[in-house]
Amino acid sequence: MHEMSLMASIFDILTRHLEDYPGVTVKKVTLRIGSLTNAVPEALEFCFSAFAQGTVVEGAQLEIIQVPIKIKCRECQQESEPVEFHFRCPGCGSLAVDVTQGRELALESMEVE
Ligand SMILES: [Zn+2]
Repeated sequence: MHEMSLMASIFDILTRHLEDYPGVTVKKVTLRIGSLTNAVPEALEFCFSAFAQGTVVEGAQLEIIQVPIKIKCRECQQESEPVEFHFRCPGCGSLAVDVTQGRELALESMEVE
Protein backbone atom coordinates (compact mmCIF):
# COMPACT_ATOMS: atom_id res chain seq x y z
CA MET A 1 0.00 0.00 0.00
CA HIS A 2 1.30 3.38 -1.13
CA GLU A 3 0.06 5.05 2.07
CA MET A 4 2.23 2.77 4.20
CA SER A 5 5.45 4.25 2.82
CA LEU A 6 4.03 7.79 3.11
CA MET A 7 3.17 7.14 6.73
CA ALA A 8 6.57 5.58 7.33
CA SER A 9 8.25 8.85 6.39
CA ILE A 10 5.78 10.81 8.54
CA PHE A 11 6.62 8.58 11.49
CA ASP A 12 10.32 9.11 10.86
CA ILE A 13 9.76 12.83 11.29
CA LEU A 14 7.44 12.34 14.26
CA THR A 15 9.92 10.11 16.04
CA ARG A 16 12.72 12.61 15.53
CA HIS A 17 10.56 15.39 17.00
CA LEU A 18 9.56 13.25 19.96
CA GLU A 19 13.16 12.51 20.86
CA ASP A 20 13.31 16.10 22.15
CA TYR A 21 10.32 15.54 24.44
CA PRO A 22 10.81 12.37 26.42
CA GLY A 23 7.85 11.12 28.41
CA VAL A 24 5.11 12.85 26.46
CA THR A 25 1.98 11.29 25.03
CA VAL A 26 0.78 12.48 21.65
CA LYS A 27 -2.84 13.63 21.63
CA LYS A 28 -3.25 14.82 18.10
CA VAL A 29 -1.29 14.85 14.87
CA THR A 30 -2.11 17.14 11.97
CA LEU A 31 -0.75 16.40 8.52
CA ARG A 32 -0.75 18.36 5.29
CA ILE A 33 -1.18 16.04 2.35
CA GLY A 34 -1.03 17.31 -1.21
CA SER A 35 -3.49 15.90 -3.73
CA LEU A 36 -0.60 14.86 -5.97
CA THR A 37 0.49 12.27 -3.44
CA ASN A 38 -2.74 10.38 -4.31
CA ALA A 39 -3.05 9.40 -0.68
CA VAL A 40 -6.48 8.24 0.42
CA PRO A 41 -7.38 9.70 3.84
CA GLU A 42 -9.04 6.48 5.05
CA ALA A 43 -5.95 4.49 4.12
CA LEU A 44 -3.73 7.06 5.83
CA GLU A 45 -5.78 6.72 8.99
CA PHE A 46 -5.44 2.97 8.86
CA CYS A 47 -1.66 3.20 8.40
CA PHE A 48 -1.43 5.81 11.13
CA SER A 49 -3.06 3.46 13.64
CA ALA A 50 -0.81 0.64 12.51
CA PHE A 51 2.34 2.67 13.01
CA ALA A 52 1.09 4.22 16.25
CA GLN A 53 0.42 0.89 17.93
CA GLY A 54 2.63 0.39 20.95
CA THR A 55 4.16 3.88 20.70
CA VAL A 56 3.40 7.16 22.48
CA VAL A 57 1.37 8.09 19.42
CA GLU A 58 -1.12 5.28 20.03
CA GLY A 59 -4.66 6.63 20.45
CA ALA A 60 -3.78 10.06 19.07
CA GLN A 61 -6.29 11.78 16.85
CA LEU A 62 -5.25 12.22 13.24
CA GLU A 63 -6.27 15.30 11.31
CA ILE A 64 -5.54 15.52 7.61
CA ILE A 65 -5.46 18.82 5.77
CA GLN A 66 -5.76 18.12 2.08
CA VAL A 67 -3.81 20.56 -0.04
CA PRO A 68 -5.17 21.10 -3.55
CA ILE A 69 -2.88 21.09 -6.56
CA LYS A 70 -1.90 24.51 -7.84
CA ILE A 71 -0.08 25.31 -11.03
CA LYS A 72 1.60 28.48 -12.23
CA CYS A 73 1.89 29.37 -15.88
CA ARG A 74 5.38 30.18 -17.15
CA GLU A 75 3.95 32.28 -19.98
CA CYS A 76 1.47 34.56 -18.20
CA GLN A 77 2.30 33.79 -14.52
CA GLN A 78 -1.34 33.00 -13.76
CA GLU A 79 -1.90 30.63 -10.85
CA SER A 80 -4.75 28.16 -10.95
CA GLU A 81 -6.06 24.87 -9.64
CA PRO A 82 -6.08 22.26 -12.40
CA VAL A 83 -9.34 20.44 -12.98
CA GLU A 84 -8.98 16.66 -13.06
CA PHE A 85 -5.24 16.79 -13.60
CA HIS A 86 -5.37 18.92 -16.76
CA PHE A 87 -2.10 20.74 -16.38
CA ARG A 88 -2.85 23.57 -18.76
CA CYS A 89 -3.07 27.27 -18.02
CA PRO A 90 -6.72 28.37 -18.09
CA GLY A 91 -5.59 31.92 -18.91
CA CYS A 92 -3.54 31.44 -22.08
CA GLY A 93 -3.79 27.71 -22.74
CA SER A 94 -0.07 27.15 -22.31
CA LEU A 95 1.17 23.75 -21.20
CA ALA A 96 4.30 25.32 -19.72
CA VAL A 97 3.15 25.21 -16.14
CA ASP A 98 4.92 24.49 -12.88
CA VAL A 99 3.28 22.69 -10.01
CA THR A 100 3.56 25.06 -7.05
CA GLN A 101 1.44 23.13 -4.57
CA GLY A 102 0.07 19.64 -4.07
CA ARG A 103 3.19 17.55 -3.48
CA GLU A 104 3.21 18.19 0.26
CA LEU A 105 3.52 15.45 2.75
CA ALA A 106 4.25 17.29 5.92
CA LEU A 107 3.73 17.23 9.61
CA GLU A 108 1.73 20.40 10.25
CA SER A 109 1.47 20.18 14.02
CA MET A 110 1.41 17.85 16.95
CA GLU A 111 -0.32 18.16 20.30
CA VAL A 112 1.38 16.45 23.20
CA GLU A 113 0.64 16.00 26.85
ZN1 LIG B 1 -0.89 31.24 -19.01
